[in-house]
Amino acid sequence: MNDIIKSKPQLCKENQQLRVDMTNANQLSEKRYVELLKNEERFSLAMRGANDGIWDWNLETDETYYSPRWKSMLGYEVSELDNIFNTWESLVNIDDKEMVIEKVHEYLAGRADSFEVEMRMQHKDGHDIFVLSRGFLVNRESDGKPIRLVGTHVDITQRKKAESFNEKNAKILEMIALGESASDIYDAIALMYETRHPGMRCSMLELHGNKLMHGGAPSLPKEYCDAVNGLENGPCVGSCGTSTYTGKRVLVENIETDIKWAKIKQVALPHGMRCCWSEPIKNSSGKVLGAFGMYYNHTALPNEEESNDLKSAAWLAGIIMEREQDQKRIRQLAYTDELTGLASRAFFYLSLEKLIKISERHHRQFSLLYIDLDNFKDINDSLGHDVGDLLLKEIAKRLLSASREVDFVSRLSGDEFSIIVEDVVDDYTAANVAQRCLDAVSQPFELLNRKLTPACSIGIAHYPDDGDNLSTLLKVADTSLYAAKEGGRNCYTFYKPELSQKAEYRFQVEHSLREAIEKQQLSLVYQPQVNIDSGEIIGVEALSRWKHPQLGNVSPVDFITTAERIGMIKPLTEWVLKTACSQAVAWKKAGFQPLQVAVNISPSHFLDKDLISLIKSVIDETGMISSELELEVTENVVQTDPKNLSVFQDLKDLKIILAIDDFGTGYSSFASLKHLKVDYLKIDKHFIDDMVNDKKTQLLVSSMIEMGHNLGYEIVAEGVETSEQLNLLKKLDCETAQGYLFSKPVSANEISKMLNTDVLSVI
Ligand code: C2E
Ligand code: CA
Ligand code: CA
Repeated sequence: MNDIIKSKPQLCKENQQLRVDMTNANQLSEKRYVELLKNEERFSLAMRGANDGIWDWNLETDETYYSPRWKSMLGYEVSELDNIFNTWESLVNIDDKEMVIEKVHEYLAGRADSFEVEMRMQHKDGHDIFVLSRGFLVNRESDGKPIRLVGTHVDITQRKKAESFNEKNAKILEMIALGESASDIYDAIALMYETRHPGMRCSMLELHGNKLMHGGAPSLPKEYCDAVNGLENGPCVGSCGTSTYTGKRVLVENIETDIKWAKIKQVALPHGMRCCWSEPIKNSSGKVLGAFGMYYNHTALPNEEESNDLKSAAWLAGIIMEREQDQKRIRQLAYTDELTGLASRAFFYLSLEKLIKISERHHRQFSLLYIDLDNFKDINDSLGHDVGDLLLKEIAKRLLSASREVDFVSRLSGDEFSIIVEDVVDDYTAANVAQRCLDAVSQPFELLNRKLTPACSIGIAHYPDDGDNLSTLLKVADTSLYAAKEGGRNCYTFYKPELSQKAEYRFQVEHSLREAIEKQQLSLVYQPQVNIDSGEIIGVEALSRWKHPQLGNVSPVDFITTAERIGMIKPLTEWVLKTACSQAVAWKKAGFQPLQVAVNISPSHFLDKDLISLIKSVIDETGMISSELELEVTENVVQTDPKNLSVFQDLKDLKIILAIDDFGTGYSSFASLKHLKVDYLKIDKHFIDDMVNDKKTQLLVSSMIEMGHNLGYEIVAEGVETSEQLNLLKKLDCETAQGYLFSKPVSANEISKMLNTDVLSVI
């Protein structure tokens, strides 16, 4: 513990000595003797801390002696303060008083073996000083009752200030580490230095280009900050404007007379500022990011402490400014789509969220356009990603030009874009922008000597009618987009609640299909293919069926596209191939004549590298004869890539029969077919439907058959429903027909029954 308490026995000894002397002197009164004793104690205390104040409190009378140093510490002359306990009471900070008295009681009651306390006391000037008070008991009555408490006061304000400055400094570093906002940190820095130097006001300005922008200045008037905000820096623009310009410290002792303030002193003087010192804020590579300014309301140059603080304040503010700049760059990278320069998906989400909040507050409306290019994947696959990228850049430009300046255009991913159309009063604005986008996008585009004609589909969602929150709006816009795609593409679709039901259905299909395929809950039906001349069934096409317990029969058009989308088409096809081949083998075992069994292969799967090995293993496993297995692919597979030709060759090497399905609906020309080794062209049902009543279609069918024959293919007519169609096909030399006229797709058992009758009755 402290020296004073330790010195107690020694002091008592001195007192005893004094008492002996006094007794010897004998002529001194008892009162005088006590007085001397007190003085001696005080003297002894004073010796121990020359700079300490001394107090001596008589607990019985409350009479309290305060030494001249005790009083001057608080700014008072000796005569200005009475020697009573109440003097301390009136000067101690009200918030500390109770705590101090409590400590005194604890000490007097013997619960604490020393008395030492820190408290704030009011200086005559009005500000608080921190005092460390230590004391000890010098007298107890014979009954143990304490009589006097003596002690010292030490002014610890500087130490306290340093401690609190360090604490604040640590707090600011913590704020930086926690990523708190720059403006909060700027304010904290300013306040920290302002507390350390009473009367000082601080400011931080950021340099944007060559403009000074307000960073933080919590104690400077707003009017002044506004006046400085946006000023261009230069060789003579106040202290901060000059220091950011020169990159050097600028100390202005008198704003009123310094030339550097000549042009702008009128904005500072009315607010009392008289001097301003500025330190440039630099990043780690020395680039000027801003300036730290210190102001006083009197003319002055910095003392050593202030000068050091100016430097460290600028350093601290520099950490945040650099962080802000880095974050700005990161934000820029994250919020801009690199390829097109449009806003990125992240920025789109953020902006949409903000707009929803604003629109809610101000009862505004807006529309969200979801834009997806039609058949972009084909372009990417066939012409390569570089061409795809060029197209996307061009589309971005076109969308920007088609939208208004206020509209927010972003690229969400791949070929998906979005436009937020603000201030929509009715559907007209959104429809107008959507139509302009359709027109702009579908302009022909010349690329590498090829002419492309892009197109897009647009789904529109309206805030707040279709959804008042982010996730609903996105879902609704997506649903509308899907409807636009289904509705024939190159069009826009507004949202309708029915679309949600469809979307829900799609979701359920998607959700249950995976399990259905894995658990083999699908079934196969077979549709006969009939030789038109003989009426004999020469083959069957296997078609998948799925009966969902709740959704009922799901159309293969729906579940096949879903399976393709969710990556389940391979397991599905594998199951179809195995089942159909096993069935073919079973029919053969049952003694029926050989039948061609056709299985549909999705384009994506046809191009899969594992297709050939899958076919081989199915053939091996089931004992199927490969020349009786037919694979049907749609014609767009033919044209995408020359490397696909090898798949045809590999399959032909296995002696598999190949058919081009839905012929006439795609883009392939006879020219592109001539290299292909296929066996059948299946003329699409649309042509068969129309050919009886439409001469042109009939001509088309006739030439398809003729040209097909010339190229060595046999022809199958699909979707034959009437005998007129059949007769016409017979006349045109088509060899095979398939359709409801003969039979709908039926179970394997039904096919067995038909095979027993040998020839179908319609012929
Ligand atoms: P697709 O390959 O063109 O199959 C012929 C479709 O036309 C079948 O529809 C069949 O039931 C129908 N159809 C046949 N004759 C007639 C007729 O005279 N009139 C009418 N109105 N329709 C007729 P389905 O079974 O609904 O299959 C639709 C499509 O789903 C198929 O078209 C095929 O592309 C796909 N699909 C079905 N099963 C499979 C499969 O196992 N794998 C793959 N990849 N696709 C399949
Ligand atoms: Ca087919
Ligand atoms: Ca077909």
